[in-house]
Amino acid sequence: MAKRDYYEVLGVPKGASKDDIKKAYRKLAIKYHPDKNQGNKEAEEKFKEATEAYEVLSDEKKKQAYDQFGFAGVEGMSGGAHDYSSVYRDFEDIFGDFGGIFDSFFGGGRRRGSHGNSRNRGADLRYNLNIPFKDAVFGTKVQISYSRHVSCPSCHGSGAESGGGRKVCPTCGGSGQVRRSSGFFSIASACPTCGGDGFIIDNPCKMCHGTGVVQKTQKIKVTIPPGIESGKRINIPSQGDVGPNGGPAGDLYVYINVEPHKYFERDGADLYCVIPVSFTQAALGAEIQVETIEGKKVKLKVPSGTQNGKILRLRGEGVPYLHNAHKRGDMYIKLQVDIPRRLSSKAKALLKELSELEGNSGTPKPVPLSELR
Ligand SMILES: [Zn+2]
Ligand SMILES: [Zn+2]
Repeated sequence: MAKRDYYEVLGVPKGASKDDIKKAYRKLAIKYHPDKNQGNKEAEEKFKEATEAYEVLSDEKKKQAYDQFGFAGVEGMSGGAHDYSSVYRDFEDIFGDFGGIFDSFFGGGRRRGSHGNSRNRGADLRYNLNIPFKDAVFGTKVQISYSRHVSCPSCHGSGAESGGGRKVCPTCGGSGQVRRSSGFFSIASACPTCGGDGFIIDNPCKMCHGTGVVQKTQKIKVTIPPGIESGKRINIPSQGDVGPNGGPAGDLYVYINVEPHKYFERDGADLYCVIPVSFTQAALGAEIQVETIEGKKVKLKVPSGTQNGKILRLRGEGVPYLHNAHKRGDMYIKLQVDIPRRLSSKAKALLKELSELEGNSGTPKPVPLSELR
């Protein structure tokens, strides 16, 4: 079944503000919420559809990837079973009466511990990927292998040896924060003992030395959308380093470098190549055959009297547009008229005859500049 465009699902224009996106989702979520529509399959689907759209469009990075590459840009971050946790976490924010000001003014969250937002997020990772010219034109799937921090299998990311366990931080009592009175206000800051985690580790895990993470080589398939260019970045959410002590994972950024082609050069969605023609072909006109990037052979008419550097165009034989793979740029063929370097005696005789016919005097006049392109 075809997926609907996320903006269409939420009924907002492409340039909609964060606030408008949130408002639109809130309306749909209230209307189709499973609690209010028990047993209604259609409402459930609508709710899921809207939630997925909101999950992407409310996340700066995912939104950017979606705007750039469409569904291909955010593919792989969900893989079937959707992760709604970040959205559900947001529900409080969406449906809450106080909004964000209340929270931040009084120094952080009513339920800071359960949010886990005091835990450190893992590092984003960068992967430089070279792809052949043709694969960038038509898109491909590439398996990459890289090393990242993953949750320690011995302690399951807790950092504590089994039996040891975590202990509620004695300084902050598990809140992760300490408060200081400063005149009229009470100011909260991260606890210096536990670093904001709310707990300390009694007996650190031997495998990860209490960090909760170990290094692991991971293989992952990256979808390269057709029409991608050098310098573009593909974001793969949550495939970077896992944070210490069970913190959320950072993202993986795949930076694209497109390798040069032997014959083709690219400018946006258009392709350029140079094809030599003999000077008799250029003078008399000819039919030549050129090969497109796909390897298709196309016949092309060289008109008689063709000058060196003339450019011919093949419509629709360029690169697919990144946002719309059904549309393609054009292929431009620059004709290079070759002057023979060596002549057979017969050719020489014929050309001499031609030269006499033309009456070449050896004192040519300059070409008026107005006649030059
Ligand atoms: Zn461990
Ligand atoms: Zn503490």
